[in-house]
Amino acid sequence: MQNILDTSIEYLKGVGPKRAALLKNEIGVYTFGDLLQYYPFRYIDKSRIHKISEITSDLAYVQLRGTISNLKVIGKPRAQRLLAIFSDESGAIELVWFKGFKWLDGKFKPGVEYLVFGKPTLFNNKYNIVHPEVDLPDEENEDLSKVLHGHYSCTENLRTRGLSSRNISKLMRTLMLKVLGNIPETLSPAIIKNLGLLSREEAFQNIHFPGNQELLRKAQARLKFEELFYIQLRLLKQKFGRQEEVDGHPFANVGDYTNAFYKQHLSFELTNAQKRVIREIRADLGSGKQMNRLLQGDVGSGKTLVALMSMLIALDNNFQACLMAPTEILANQHFATISTMTSALGIRVELLTGSTKAAKRKQLHEDLRSGELQLLIGTHALLEEQVKFKNLGLVVIDEQHRFGVAQRARLYYKNVIPPHILVMTATPIPRTLAMTLYGDLDFSVIDEMPPGRKPVKTYHFFDSKRLRLFGFMKEQIALGRQVYIVYPLIHESEKLDLKDLMDGYESISRAFPLPDYPISIVHGKLKSDAKDFEMKRFIKGETKIMVATTVIEVGVDIPNASVMVIENAERFGLSQLHQLRGRVGRGADQSYCILMSGNKLSEEARTRLKVMTDTTDGFLIAETDLKLRGPGDLAGTQQSGILDLKIANLLRDEKILKYARNLAMEILEKDPSLGKPENKLLSQTLQALHKYQDDWASIS
Ligand code: ADP
Ligand code: MG
Repeated sequence: MQNILDTSIEYLKGVGPKRAALLKNEIGVYTFGDLLQYYPFRYIDKSRIHKISEITSDLAYVQLRGTISNLKVIGKPRAQRLLAIFSDESGAIELVWFKGFKWLDGKFKPGVEYLVFGKPTLFNNKYNIVHPEVDLPDEENEDLSKVLHGHYSCTENLRTRGLSSRNISKLMRTLMLKVLGNIPETLSPAIIKNLGLLSREEAFQNIHFPGNQELLRKAQARLKFEELFYIQLRLLKQKFGRQEEVDGHPFANVGDYTNAFYKQHLSFELTNAQKRVIREIRADLGSGKQMNRLLQGDVGSGKTLVALMSMLIALDNNFQACLMAPTEILANQHFATISTMTSALGIRVELLTGSTKAAKRKQLHEDLRSGELQLLIGTHALLEEQVKFKNLGLVVIDEQHRFGVAQRARLYYKNVIPPHILVMTATPIPRTLAMTLYGDLDFSVIDEMPPGRKPVKTYHFFDSKRLRLFGFMKEQIALGRQVYIVYPLIHESEKLDLKDLMDGYESISRAFPLPDYPISIVHGKLKSDAKDFEMKRFIKGETKIMVATTVIEVGVDIPNASVMVIENAERFGLSQLHQLRGRVGRGADQSYCILMSGNKLSEEARTRLKVMTDTTDGFLIAETDLKLRGPGDLAGTQQSGILDLKIANLLRDEKILKYARNLAMEILEKDPSLGKPENKLLSQTLQALHKYQDDWASIS
């Protein structure tokens, strides 16, 4: 049966085709159900009526009762506005409309009492109210609109074309009357009873037209819970499903390669965190179930080693393994590190990237199929159709947020039995976000840095201190160190970015002349072999300064480069600043990060720079980032679409989230496929909710 909530919004009384188009384009409201889920962003107490004489600039909103007079349109044709005088027994105030006032013509009658609602602003030493809401006190629906009034955010287009917050509220009333009694429940009676939730219908009613403060709170709680619960149910169902249906290769042995490497070829002691994570991975690999694990560790925490040891376990069990990195430079670097570390073990390790020559490539393909080639490192070139393994047992994906989900899914299908999968990320993810974004993966954290690291010293310089910066760079270079200078990608056009970078490069070249200061430059417009060439010169220490755009952001490990200068640092997001800073502090020397900025800083930019100079704790930085920007902007969240939350807030609703996750877990533990009769409603709702969404993840 067609649900009334699926009815096109066009058919709601008061909407029609024109407004329907507006609602669709402006706020994505297509159906009755969509409108119902267009929640107010704030509530205003309308029980209070102010006197005009009481108005002060402290009042965010006032509600006045009085009469309207002296309406007149003034100004030139293109800049017209409507003015009116509004009076009560205590005084008078001006009302102003700049837009959309044609339809007000003749609407206000002299001598009739109106309720006026709006924000008073001081203009020429007098208060006025711009674009007030005007109502008759006894307008028919007043009884429904109790004390707390929901305010809906609306775009400029909506407002000027007759769909102000107040008009949306009116539509909502019409809608409510139409659908009451027909809003299907989505949580089972048991859940509602146990958690003391409002019914779905009561929740919708009170979210739009709260009976009182308490009911509003309950409505919010119910809707937030529902939203988070179904996300968790979906993620965890995927996870349970995989565990049920997909067997993994049991890696029973920790054999020669692993032992030999650990005992003879590891030049340092593993940190406790590395040991713990390797134990977790080993347990997964030995379990006979397919592993899907996210390994999170701050930049420099030593994830590569964990990856290598996991891959050696695969090799010990006569399986192949591969490691995929997001850039060619990184793949090269992993290849160099790993082939050196394993050189004494007699393992066949190869590198496959976009620039691998055809003949070599052909050979690699053959050796992969025969099984002779055991460990393959590369870029997304690994995903190509021709790359076929004899028996791929483990896939490691480094810096996972750089890869699209679809790409990862392709690795999953490279074997009949899917390989174990380990994704690694250096992007610190606050717990609540991780639970949501990666809720279907098992989660390991390296929360300890290798010993002997000196925390990077971070300073913020204004541009006026540039000479001091240059002096400092020269001192460091004289000590044998190397320096990165990074420019942001800020403009819409790549040309402009390049210009910024080239201007910077020129001024650096002037201040740091040859032959004392050879400089490398790397940016996105360079061909990859030119990029590699420059990068290699820097890695070898042949150049002292690396001028670059953010292409060097991810993963590169050059211990001798101990100074990171970030130009226009105010334009970078926090997590990006943190990533960039993570490029230094990898050797034994004291490292420095210098944040350069202009003098004029927004408050948010100031906060970001201050957090950077105050702490090197990735989690703290990530949490601040989440607070400043909201989860939608964090790396990796855009592609998932999962954080398109309508009402819940991952920062504020951590408790509800945990509740929702635990309940979803409990239900699935007893009934992983949600096939039992008592879970039919949940299963149906889940399907309906994700009818239009791609199954975005086979892996994560
Ligand atoms: P990331 O987690 O950022 O990928 P890497 O794996 O690149 O970090 O490791 C950073 C550096 O730390 C490398 O030079 C690596 O050899 C070194 N390292 C890793 N583990 C340890 C350890 N337990 N003790 C000392 N150095 C280590
Ligand atoms: Mg790394």
